[in-house]
Amino acid sequence: MSPTRVKCPTCGREIEWSERSPFRPFCSERCKLIDLGAWLSEQRGIPDDAPPVADPGLEPDPGSDDGR
Ligand SMILES: [Zn+2]
Repeated sequence: MSPTRVKCPTCGREIEWSERSPFRPFCSERCKLIDLGAWLSEQRGIPDDAPPVADPGLEPDPGSDDGR
């Protein structure tokens, strides 16, 4: 069996869809952050001079759905 391969949405580089690619579908953490940043700025309409996103969103929200 050949491993599934996907293209990084940010740079188009092919990566293996497996445990060896922890940042899939991105080829690296860098591409993942670039894509996330682009998405956030698009959603919020941040002007060019806005500061970079500091909160990675890792903080759990106690009031949200916890997956019950
Ligand atoms: Zn990439």
